Amino acid sequence: MLTALYIHVPFCDKVCTYCDFHKEIASLDKKKKYLVSLIKELENHKFEYNDLKTVYIGGGTPSSLPINLLEELLIQIKKYINIKKLTEFSIETNPNDISIEMANLFNKYGINRVSIGVQTFNDNHLLFLGRTHSKEDVLNAVDNLLKSGITNINIDMIFSLVNQTMEELVLDLEEVVNLPIKHISYYSLILEEKTKLHYLYSQNKISMNSEDLEALMYNRVIDTLKNKGFNHYEISNFSKKGYESIHNMIYWQNKQYLGIGSGSHSLYKDSRFSNIRNVRRYTKSLNEDGYPISEAYEVEPLREEMIMGLRLLAGVNINFVNSKYNVDLLELYPEINDFISKELLVLENDYLRFTRKGLLLGNIIFSIF
Ligand code: SF4
Repeated sequence: MLTALYIHVPFCDKVCTYCDFHKEIASLDKKKKYLVSLIKELENHKFEYNDLKTVYIGGGTPSSLPINLLEELLIQIKKYINIKKLTEFSIETNPNDISIEMANLFNKYGINRVSIGVQTFNDNHLLFLGRTHSKEDVLNAVDNLLKSGITNINIDMIFSLVNQTMEELVLDLEEVVNLPIKHISYYSLILEEKTKLHYLYSQNKISMNSEDLEALMYNRVIDTLKNKGFNHYEISNFSKKGYESIHNMIYWQNKQYLGIGSGSHSLYKDSRFSNIRNVRRYTKSLNEDGYPISEAYEVEPLREEMIMGLRLLAGVNINFVNSKYNVDLLELYPEINDFISKELLVLENDYLRFTRKGLLLGNIIFSIF
């Protein structure tokens, strides 16, 4: 049963220093052509949307589309999907895009969750990251969304920025917890290849924070957000009660979803596949044969289940996994017992989950699967 649809908009106004997502800066003409193809792909699946519970428009930066193009996309989504039946309809945005006009547009077409890429409130760090907004833009964006009637707001943040001090992190935390929002995603800065950040690092122009400082910062993020009433429900995600991301839960619970748009991924009809990760070739392919899939790939289902499931702080029900895959997890992965004895994992009421200590060493634990 298909309950989640992801729609990719691969355009940004500016490329951030650290970003390795599929995105580009494009002309208006290219954006228009892309939209035609995206809508064609949306229509191709029109008989599969009956059970949808969530739609997520991500990117790139969907809010960087000119407002008339964004409205055209929303009109088409409404044409093929019964928006009233959705529990969650999300869109990713940048703060300086959210005018009152755009916020009202979101509300008019049933978007009920808006994710804002903020990353930090510190002007110097914003500049280094290549972000074009200010703290005032964030406050205005939140204000405009609330005025339009949208209260389910997520803010994306990054910690362990280049040369970020603990004092600067504390200031960021103070700013973000004081906003009237329901959800915070707080990731550490990752050095991804083929990014400007990676280039600067490879040229010894910058250094990344030590693992010890990063761990201290992560602990500070968790403690502060929990103290302010945010439930830590996934490694990097925190929400007010009842505001966990329903769409992302589908990924973490290894359930089926369909991705449309250039570079999108799907887990659908028991196979994993991805669309062509190039706007021009994606558009060409859809126009010529209506088929933009670049590759179907095999994944090890048990491995996926464990890696995705352990990201959730509630953990993985080992009885469920044992019977689903006809295995004995503790026999198959004897390291699990070592991790339990070292207090990195805990097994309680049949749920295997990270301890706080384990969260800091997640990669080591994931590496056994
Ligand atoms: S706005 Fe988002 S998607 Fe676009 S370059 Fe920056 S981080 Fe990447």
